[in-house]
This record gives sequence, C-alpha cells and structure tokens, in this order.
Amino acid sequence: MQEKLSNSHLKKLQDVEYNYKTIEEQIVNAAEKSGRHRKDIAFMAATKTVDAEIINHAISLGLKYIGENKVQELLSKYDYYNLDNCSLQLIGHLQTNKVRQIVGKVDMIQSVDSLKLATEIGKQSEKNNITTDILLEVNIGREESKSGVMPEQLEELLCQIRTIDGISIRGLMSIPPICEKKSEISQYFALMNKLFIDIKDKKMDNVSMDYLSMGMSSDYYEAILNGANMVRVGSSLFGARIYR
Ligand SMILES: *Cc1c(COP(=O)(O)O)cnc(C)c1O
Repeated sequence: MQEKLSNSHLKKLQDVEYNYKTIEEQIVNAAEKSGRHRKDIAFMAATKTVDAEIINHAISLGLKYIGENKVQELLSKYDYYNLDNCSLQLIGHLQTNKVRQIVGKVDMIQSVDSLKLATEIGKQSEKNNITTDILLEVNIGREESKSGVMPEQLEELLCQIRTIDGISIRGLMSIPPICEKKSEISQYFALMNKLFIDIKDKKMDNVSMDYLSMGMSSDYYEAILNGANMVRVGSSLFGARIYR
C-alpha cells in the first residue's frame, strides 16, 4: 500500500514536470509569434485545490508566480509554500471583510472591481506600512454571473481609486466567457488588449498598465497572441481538479 501511494505520487510529480515543460514551450512559441520573448510573459499557476507540496514542485522547476482563489485556502497553505523565488497572488473574488487577512501576504490582488474593495485594501496596507499591487478585473463578456467592472465603467473606477494611498494599480485582469471557438475567445482578448492600450496611452497619474492578465488552460496561447503578458494556468499544469 505504502509503495503504491508513493508510486502514484511520483507519477503526479512527473506529470507536473512534463506539463510544465510543455506549457513553457507553448509560451515561448506564442511570445515569439506575437513579436515578444519568453521573458515578457509571466506564467502563473492557478493553484486552487492543489496541495502545497505539488505547488512547491512546480516552483522548483522554475515557476515564478502562483495564484490562489480563496482566502481561506490560501491561508491554510501559506506556511507551506516555498516563496523564496515565487510571487503569491490572489486571483479569486475577494470580500471586503477578508482583505485584512491577506494584505501583507500576497504580492498582488488581481480581482479588484469596486471602490469599496480598493479602499479597504488601501486602508489595510497603510496599517501595515506597505503598498499592495492590484489589477482591476474587467467583466469583458458583460456576464451577470461574473464579477469584474463593466468595460464602460473601467475608466471611472480608475479615476476614483488612483488617489487611494496604500495601493498601486498595475494593470488589468479578465476571465472571458467560455467560448467554443478560438476565434470567439480571441475577440474578447482583443477587446481587453484595446482597453489596456487605451488606458496606457492616457498616461493617467498613479495608474500603471504593466500587466494584462488573461488566458487559462484552454486558451492561454490565444491570449498571448492577443497581448496578454500574464497567463493563469491551472488544470493543464496540475491535471483536472479534484474537489474535496
Ligand atoms: C482556476 C482559474 C484559472 C485557471 O483555470 P484552468 O482552466 O484550470 O487553467 C485562472 N484564473 C482564475 C481566476 C481561476 O480561478
């Protein structure tokens, strides 16, 4: 029994290693196809439901960014991640009353979509004498079920939050609708890229557009072709998620 367990465990680590290398190759390829280099693209692993040990294995392979979805899950794994060379970020929806628990622990919060949330992140960061990097999440498909600011309200929100102390606006994040065709999802990525470039060109005070975070397991290649410089990959790296 013991041996069986460790065999399957070893297999799991080997799978992650194989997947990691495959994704790396795809990122290199997509980066070059879009006139950029591997170093211009941040490869983040979406780590929900994945054990810290497996995550650390990916980090040992060179992974530089990990993103968790839930505050509670992040806190339960926090002491086990090996973060010496890796940035821990929050990519899932965040409730205002939980901000206090993660400020100072994460390098960036990618899911900011309201003045209230940005204000609370600023307040808690100031209490800790730090500045927290944030991305604004855009609901590019205008889906009722999804969080994120509507595209036409993005600029107004940026104007409202850019003067808040304790936060630094670093870019945009999006989770487009599920699409059957690559051409369809690419249209959403292109819309995000246009928003990103338009805002960058406006050179608003206290607003940096360094990161355009979009693309997941099924579409990170298309996302990079359409301007993403950070992709968030879960199941293609770690295998299908098993919810417990
Ligand atoms: C789960 C998740 C991902 C990755 O999804 P996969 O399809 O498994 O690659 C990316 N971003 C967010 C916000 C997620 O919750």
